[in-house]
This record gives sequence, C-alpha cells and structure tokens, in this order.
Amino acid sequence: MWKKIRIFVLLLVLGAVVQQTMIEQSDLDWSKNFYVAVYPINADGTAVVDSYISTLTKEDFEPIADYFSEEAKRFGLTMRRPFQVQLGAKVLRQPPAPPKAASAFEVIVWSLKFRYFAWKNSPQVAVKPKIRMYLLYFDPAANPGLSHSTALSKGRVGYVNLFGSKAYHRQNMVILAHEMLHTLGATDKYNLATTLPIFPEGFAEPNKAPRYPQDFAELMGGRVPISESKAEIPKSLLQTLVGEVTAKEIGWVK
Ligand SMILES: [Zn+2]
Repeated sequence: MWKKIRIFVLLLVLGAVVQQTMIEQSDLDWSKNFYVAVYPINADGTAVVDSYISTLTKEDFEPIADYFSEEAKRFGLTMRRPFQVQLGAKVLRQPPAPPKAASAFEVIVWSLKFRYFAWKNSPQVAVKPKIRMYLLYFDPAANPGLSHSTALSKGRVGYVNLFGSKAYHRQNMVILAHEMLHTLGATDKYNLATTLPIFPEGFAEPNKAPRYPQDFAELMGGRVPISESKAEIPKSLLQTLVGEVTAKEIGWVK
C-alpha cells in the first residue's frame, strides 16, 4: 500500500518536472521580457561582505539589462529590454553547494536540492521572476579564488560565486551575465581543462584577421583570446559580446 502511494507521489513529481520543462522550452520566444531576481547572500559570514551587500542597489545591476538590450539589438530583436533585473532581499540561508567532480546521479540530486532551496528562499520582488540568481559574495581578502559558478536551465536558477567588493563589481557582472544565459540553455564555449575559448564558437569575432589578439570575449567563451595559448578574463561586460551560436541557443536567432 505505502509503496504504491510512494510511487504515485514520485510519478506526480516527475509529471510536474516534465510539464515545467516543456513550459520553459516553449517560452523562449522573446515576446515578453525575462524578469530576473538576484538575491545576495553573505557566503563567508564576514562583516566586510555584510556591509558590501548593504550598499547594493537596483542600479548596480542595470548594466546587465543595458548590455543584453544592446546585444539583442545586434541580432535583430525588437524588444527594448530582453531582461529586467530586480534586486531581491538578502537571503540568510546558504544554498546547497554543487558537488565537485560528481557523478551524473549526484548532480541530479544536487539540482533537485537546489531547486527546492530556491522554492523555499525566494523573497518577493515586484514582478514574479522567471529566473532566480543567488549571488554568493565572498571577501576577496580572505578568499584568493572563487569556486565555479553554475546555473540550471531546468528551474532557471543560478548559484553564482562573486567577490563582495566594489572593485570587483564590473567583473561580477560578466560572471552573472554568463550564468544568466546558462539558465536559458546556453552552453559553455571554452575548454574545461585549459579554460581557453573554443574556436570558432567561443570567439566573439571568429572571422577577425589576424585571429589573435581578439578584442572581445564571447560571453559563454568566458575569456578574451590573446594568442593560441593565452586568454584573459574580461574586465567588464564592455569587453564581451554574445556570439552567433549562443544567440541560437537562447532563441535570439532561429
Ligand atoms: Zn559556464
């Protein structure tokens, strides 16, 4: 009896997930803008990060909306603002960390846990968001490096590691923009082992001659290719472009 009930409940959950996935795929038509909520989190619990988070305003995230407006225009999209970014209240709980070097099964379990976390920890914003990004801020003085950020297209949620300091804000916007496109199905376009952008799809201007050095990073390629063996982290969104393949993946180009 209980076993039957359990299977029935599991089937219901599965049905809901399948339905949500179908809705998510069909709503990539860009007839309406995507409302995004960004939720800051003090990831290392320091006073430095707390005071940094308290300075954040909605205006700090406007460059992302402006950037995507410009990029969408280059691909012939007529809508004025493809993304609207809303700053939500600080979230006090820590989301489950993505597993390192995990099996496919562990990743699925984590993604379900993370989506459950998002469902429980989404402070209200003016317009119900379709995309929720959790911004985990760390004190750069205490953390020399950041772990990988990651985002899920199923459920459209992002786990974004950032430095909680004004000096890093413009670079943070590049990471956030990259992760936002993951929630819409864009894939990484760099070599995971070397971090070098993959030619041609990870290059902002693959037809440039000579090929190196490039002036821009493709947003999902991650870095500005300087030579065949060297690429640099872009300083701000002004140094990045959305490439043709990424634009196709997110439905900007049919
Ligand atoms: Zn990525």
